[in-house]
Amino acid sequence: MQPPFHPHKAVTLVYSGGSHRKAPCRPVRETEVPIQVTDTLQGVKRIFHPADSSRVRLYLCGPTVYATAHIGNFRPAVAFDVLFRLLRHTYGAESVVYARNFTDIDDKIITAAQAEGVGIEVITDRYTARYLADSDTLGVLRPTYAPTATGHVGDMIALIADLIEKGHAYATLNGVNFHVPSMPTYGRLSGRSQEELRTGARVDPDPTKRDPADFALWKAAKPGEPAWDSPWGPGRPGWHIECSAMIEALLGSPIDIHMGGQDLIFPHHENEIAQTECAHGRPLANYWLHNGFLSVDSEKMSKSLGNVVTVHALSEHWAGEVIRLGLMSAHYRAPLDWTEELLTQCRATLDRLYNALRRVNAVALTPNVVAEGVVAALSDDLNTPEALAELSRLATLLNKAEEPDEQAALKAELLHGAGLVGLLGTDPDVWARGDAGEAARIDGLIADRIAARKARNFAEADRIRDALAAEGIEIMDGPQGSTWRRKG
Ligand code: AMP
Ligand code: ZN
Repeated sequence: MQPPFHPHKAVTLVYSGGSHRKAPCRPVRETEVPIQVTDTLQGVKRIFHPADSSRVRLYLCGPTVYATAHIGNFRPAVAFDVLFRLLRHTYGAESVVYARNFTDIDDKIITAAQAEGVGIEVITDRYTARYLADSDTLGVLRPTYAPTATGHVGDMIALIADLIEKGHAYATLNGVNFHVPSMPTYGRLSGRSQEELRTGARVDPDPTKRDPADFALWKAAKPGEPAWDSPWGPGRPGWHIECSAMIEALLGSPIDIHMGGQDLIFPHHENEIAQTECAHGRPLANYWLHNGFLSVDSEKMSKSLGNVVTVHALSEHWAGEVIRLGLMSAHYRAPLDWTEELLTQCRATLDRLYNALRRVNAVALTPNVVAEGVVAALSDDLNTPEALAELSRLATLLNKAEEPDEQAALKAELLHGAGLVGLLGTDPDVWARGDAGEAARIDGLIADRIAARKARNFAEADRIRDALAAEGIEIMDGPQGSTWRRKG
């Protein structure tokens, strides 16, 4: 359905007079919009230059697989999937190498396994499968590599040994620590001074810890815990070392772009930088990108607040593309508040885009069309709201287009642009049928409500009305029975 990604040098179409209504279109120039990203390390928006444009290397800190990921956990996956798509378009799909790990050994995983009386792999296999199923629902492309921490323990042990040898790490009663004062530049990414870190650190009961800011590279096993043999006795790696080791093993350093949620800047990414720089004498990454947080009704989404929403639960009511659009509706660095109204709006937006395509379903695509407006918006620090506005503008033009050539070019441009943000992957007729199925579902709920009222179960009748209202559906009771309409 979707046009293929086009390499950077593809000829782009520019329409004479700047208006799509003035067909015919003709290729008149080649453009190269520079990609700019906001780099946390330098604190500015910078033009992106890969070290090797035939092997652009990306890494995203992935999930810890101890429970079902919530919609907030998928914000980085979706935001940086857009970056992956943009870079594939720009440099060619074969030239972008993207790794996203699974943290499959950690305190929370051990606790979850003990609570169920099973091995940790029962827990990690289950939640890895769920994470992948949910990311498929959201249209997240599979990264080139999806390494697991347990698959790279040997690399981590070698890295720790190297750090000890170079005087940056030392054995303790509880394992091995990185010695923060051994790195004078520690704290650059988060802008924290070592003095600040020292005074802010918890008092540690371990008398062999040399500095309050030091952190664990290796943790000695407690009885009953999963353990790997090491020169420092049986134990398991700390969390930070896994990313440094996997990046080195799969991509080599420095990579081009390292990504993650804002909460990871300190200490996780700071520590990744320290480990790699001190062991290899090279920076870990040339650009650092961080996404903002997702909240629910202005509160942070978290298990302890009980406001967690999963993709699986959402997908019972909403198409994956609706949820994905919701995640892209704010700029990736901005906070995003997750509400029912947002999803209702996103569905209306997608219905409109698909309807525009449906009208021209029989029209063949003009080949090699690049959605320049979308590329330009995304090249400006992944401005997804601007890219979505551009898709909407293209749909408006497509709705008005009468000439077959113009329809073919606009349709191709809309589909190419949508592909860059991972939308419009469904056949428009299938999408419309989904809506018909949706109408049947709502009719069914309204029938249930009428039955509940007949049975004088008013609580149930009200619950159904409220649930539909939350989806933006208003029930109108009249003498002929009940009808419904979508608000807004
Ligand atoms: P975790 O499984 O907790 O390590 O989280 C996986 C990823 O999700 C990390 O990159 C976090 O920064 C990110 N993350 C967790 N909660 C949220 C949230 N509410 N909004 C946006 N990103 C989040
Ligand atoms: Zn990491």
